[in-house]
Amino acid sequence: MIIHLNKNISKSLTKEIAKKYEAVEIVTEEKTILITPHLVKKIDEKYHEYIDNSWIFDNDIQLANKKYSPEIKEIKIGKFSIGGKNRNTLLTIGPCGVESKEQIYQTAELIKDCGLHTIRAGSFKPRTSPYSFQGMGIDGLKLLAEIRDKYKLAVITEVRDLTHVDEVIDYADVIQIGAKSMYDHGILHRCGKSKKPILLKRGFGSTIQEFVQAAEFILSGGNENVILCERGIRTFETKSRFTLDLCGVAYLKEYTNLPVFLDPSHAMGYSYGVPDLARACMAMDVDGLLIEVHPDPKVAKSDASQQLNHNEFKKLFDTLKPIAKVINRNII
Ligand code: PEP
Ligand code: MN
Repeated sequence: MIIHLNKNISKSLTKEIAKKYEAVEIVTEEKTILITPHLVKKIDEKYHEYIDNSWIFDNDIQLANKKYSPEIKEIKIGKFSIGGKNRNTLLTIGPCGVESKEQIYQTAELIKDCGLHTIRAGSFKPRTSPYSFQGMGIDGLKLLAEIRDKYKLAVITEVRDLTHVDEVIDYADVIQIGAKSMYDHGILHRCGKSKKPILLKRGFGSTIQEFVQAAEFILSGGNENVILCERGIRTFETKSRFTLDLCGVAYLKEYTNLPVFLDPSHAMGYSYGVPDLARACMAMDVDGLLIEVHPDPKVAKSDASQQLNHNEFKKLFDTLKPIAKVINRNII
């Protein structure tokens, strides 16, 4: 249950209600909001005079539920917004990882050439082997900040663990929480205390319900700026790296009020399939696409097999434009 309390309620009474119904509390300048487990369906009559409005739910997708707030949340990224009433689709491209000054400047040039506004690259890489490239760390964040200043691009970069979450929040315009960190409660709680947009990727072993509940940790921490990113789940199929759950995306769009991104690159795992899949993603009428590109994919230090080279991306980009037009979307 979500409860909007009225302004004249005392702090001690708020605490009393929160304790009684095991509610999480969000305090904003305008109001105090309590969110109880969805199993709570009514509140004792003696508290009714302190309640402005309330909503009941049949599961714990609450703040992210269209029943609570039907409009897709508008989120500002750089000088643009996604969600809300606008029809923008943010095309976020960049290499899997920041590897060198030369590489990231080449990427920035491509983005500028294409008239796009966002660069995405990880500097703290959550790898499946401790012997693989782990990212450039703070040095990579500094390079991204340099690119932002020089090329006026918004920076999306990933937080891998709590040891550097504050630095990533400081440097990034959008903080990416990767699939493997979807359940990192330290990161979720910390990101809930920031106001910066959070790009939350779906854990590849989690259901849509669990995915949105992870977003609820950030939302209930007080950060309304959450974007959901479907990037493929693990199934019995082995010919692609993961299986992109477009049905799940249809669900997210129908029932949640958060902007949705799709990531064809990590789902497919092989560059040959990315353009077709990216076009299918565009046709899903989503708020953003995440596509990995690299000046020379064969020497990439992570996710080499799935990254498009710059020419391949330009060709793909030309074919995304008419799809966007048909569904009345502006690629930004
Ligand atoms: C990435 O975006 O480069 C990444 C590591 O993706 P994921 O967390 O979806 O595996
Ligand atoms: Mn990657």
